[in-house]
Amino acid sequence: MSTRLGVVGWPVAHSRSPAMFAAAFAACGLHSWSYQRLPLPPELFEETARALGASGFLGVNVTIPHKHAALVLADRASDAARAIGAANTLTFHPDGTIAAENTDAPGLIAALGRLTGMPAQPSALVLGAGGSARAAVWGLLDAGAAEVSVWNRTPQRAAVLAHELGARAVGEPVPADLLVNCTSVGLQRSATDAEALNQLGLSADHVGRYAYVIDLVYRDGLTPLLAAARSRGVTTIDGLEILVAQGALSFQLWTGQPAPLADMRRGAGIEDV
Ligand code: NAP
Repeated sequence: MSTRLGVVGWPVAHSRSPAMFAAAFAACGLHSWSYQRLPLPPELFEETARALGASGFLGVNVTIPHKHAALVLADRASDAARAIGAANTLTFHPDGTIAAENTDAPGLIAALGRLTGMPAQPSALVLGAGGSARAAVWGLLDAGAAEVSVWNRTPQRAAVLAHELGARAVGEPVPADLLVNCTSVGLQRSATDAEALNQLGLSADHVGRYAYVIDLVYRDGLTPLLAAARSRGVTTIDGLEILVAQGALSFQLWTGQPAPLADMRRGAGIEDV
């Protein structure tokens, strides 16, 4: 019998998760497992998600804009998903119940763990105040970061996030060991690199002052933030590495097996595997 998995989002056509999971199934000999895109507009999310278990789905990853709705829908949720207020992984159990997990936060921390020379308790500046920023702030604090500052285009949202999660809202980007971009700036190519950095309150010189720069956004080629960081010799992690790290944790949750990271990186389109 086949085991079905997928990614629910709107839009979801750009997702590299199906290719990443196909590579993982092939590497692990899970030939009857499949993973598909499930484009679902918000008005159809709840009804459709509730029916997926009965349609043979073991679980789904959840992406924009459904991560909060996924948490609300679930019968039970991990402490991380509850604290973050969002779930990116749903598991459909045989008794009809739905469990929610958030692998974005531990995925980010796992990716950071592969960097050399990282301080044990780094300071971090998180840009953004949406769902992925909440996961990053929670994950960094949970992992023992010395201090997490949050900057957002709309300051009120940064203040609320910081208050709820125990971080510090800042009015402009401040120095830190890590700079983590959790905004969608860099996704669109309409802005020049300088304009994109300006939208984040940064210049290329500012970016060069951080020891590590992490961009959750991925696209073909470097994002403006990563291009600035690399041009100044800063160590970087791109959004595809973060995608693989969170996907690997979902894979482990569903299969009970260690994730084949090199295969998943290749499947996601990371070129230097
Ligand atoms: P979200 O909840 O919609 O939040 C978007 C954030 O971007 C908000 O803080 C928003 O600021 C900010 N923003 C949007 N346009 C901006 C602009 N022109 N200038 C400055 N700030 C701007 O989205 P999300 O779920 O957190 O995701 C954010 C990005 O991370 C997306 O591109 C997503 O694809 C990526 N992501 C990647 C992974 C991965 O695995 N690699 C995982 C999760 C997310 P305001 O509050 O002012 O609107």
